[in-house]
Amino acid sequence: MHPPSVKEHIFKSNSPAVSVPEDTTLPDFVLRDSERFSDKVALVEAMTGTTLTYGEVARDTRRFAKALRSLGLRKGHVVVVLLPNSAIYPVVALGIMAAGGVFSGANPLALASEISKQVVDSSAKILVTNGFTYENKAKDLGIPVIVVGDDGDNTAEQERAPNAIRWRELLEASDHAGANAVDEEVTQSDLCALPYSSGTTGTAKGVMLTHRNLVSSLCSTLSNVGPEMVGQVTTLGLMPFFHIYGTTGICCATLRNKGKVVVMARFEPRLFMHALIAHEVTFAPIVPPIMLAMVNSPVIDEFDRSGLKLKSVMTAAAPLAPQLLAAFEAKFPGVVVQEAYGLTEHSCITLTHGDPTQIAKKNSVGRILPNMEVKFIDPETGVSLPTNTPGELCVRSQSVMQGYYKNREETERMIDQQGWLHTGDIGYIDEDGDVFIVDRIKELIKYKGFQVAPAELEAILLSHPSVQDAAVFGIAEEEAGEIPVACVVMKANAGESEEDIMNHVASNVASYKRLRMVCFVDTIPKSQSGKIMRRLLRDTVIKKEGSST
Ligand code: AMP
Repeated sequence: MHPPSVKEHIFKSNSPAVSVPEDTTLPDFVLRDSERFSDKVALVEAMTGTTLTYGEVARDTRRFAKALRSLGLRKGHVVVVLLPNSAIYPVVALGIMAAGGVFSGANPLALASEISKQVVDSSAKILVTNGFTYENKAKDLGIPVIVVGDDGDNTAEQERAPNAIRWRELLEASDHAGANAVDEEVTQSDLCALPYSSGTTGTAKGVMLTHRNLVSSLCSTLSNVGPEMVGQVTTLGLMPFFHIYGTTGICCATLRNKGKVVVMARFEPRLFMHALIAHEVTFAPIVPPIMLAMVNSPVIDEFDRSGLKLKSVMTAAAPLAPQLLAAFEAKFPGVVVQEAYGLTEHSCITLTHGDPTQIAKKNSVGRILPNMEVKFIDPETGVSLPTNTPGELCVRSQSVMQGYYKNREETERMIDQQGWLHTGDIGYIDEDGDVFIVDRIKELIKYKGFQVAPAELEAILLSHPSVQDAAVFGIAEEEAGEIPVACVVMKANAGESEEDIMNHVASNVASYKRLRMVCFVDTIPKSQSGKIMRRLLRDTVIKKEGSST
């Protein structure tokens, strides 16, 4: 640590602070004024046309909260939600929070073993999923499973399964139950969400977020959206709702301001363009790989783009290449690109471009949001750095997580005693307050915006009987942003090929975590403290690949 006499370089937002209401839970904050907008469509599924109005969202959130309480859910109990994006998803998440529970979204691509890990680690009391996933991945978790959606109707087996509860029947039963079963008051300091993130090191951990964390994050994010915008924004709901970007940045932000979310469960260029045009989407939060597809896919050119109502695109979750930004702007003239930077541990967005009239410089991730403080430190000494000097980005605000669930060591590594969250990203701020992210020092790999934790893949590699040692790291790749690559030391006389090793990992993880390259090496370089020198390995592999092409 630096001596106290040294001047700290702490940066704040150029915009004035915003007030954060103290007496409202996240569901109340988000569903405010729902009665007034009762008949307005809140969510529409692009694929099926299924809609939910604000009246229905508010009503079913209350019904689901009551139903959960009647199932025995109590304050602080975790409910894992394993669903693709759908109109009902935000109702499920807000209902859990309104009941005093903690919403823990899981990636619907996860394998049964990965789901089980999250259920066990979070001590989840209930799982919410759809009929297909229940059948294929979630029957044997040993906790009650609420099966959402019409596909819950089609299997007699589900009816017999003792732990399956149908969504519709559950809600109907709760309508006939006695008084509202929410008896413990839910306050802002209670936990409401537990998304999983690997943070700066190790495997995925539960990120403890309170109602206060998320309400303040939303107040900062929405600070530049004036009252004239209420009810006016139509947002594309394509980013996964289980991820904080989808939960806070898309669903909660749009519903709070009574806009409309056009829900898509996956990216498919033709459906994507149909959705943008048919539903007159005005704001599309995406990630760089989707932007790349918008630029490169020939399907996009089949559509007359002159009718698009799209005003702005937000790209976050991974670095945006300047060439991609330029190509997008050429293809979609008039659409403002708003880059944003955030992380799960900070409840969502931290830095972004302001309203279109005050956009930060191109290739900057934006400016500091109101109510947030930022500094850049020398990772070795902890000394904070002046403008235009790259260092580890640290942030302090009311949106900093409470810590990692049941993991004090990792919490202390991430949040220091002064409340600064150390992000593991390297960046700098210029004299105008524009922030640039230039590198990442944490282990995390981001494949198409999805988190891949090297430690998880290394553990799977080391479980192979022929593997002596292994290291996993990311290598930049145009389409995915980054791909997971492994260097592996095989035991003497091992007969497996690189492909066999890739297949071993592939059979144990969701598709987006698969290794895209394996290189056999003689040793894994480690520092004196035993840390894998991933950067060195990465540079060696890049050099080798470069010279062999
Ligand atoms: P997650 O918690 O999954 O949202 O991942 C957060 C991490 O994604 C950050 O710590 C960064 O490493 C990366 N990230 C998010 N937004 C950006 C961005 N705009 N540019 C570069 N990296 C980003």
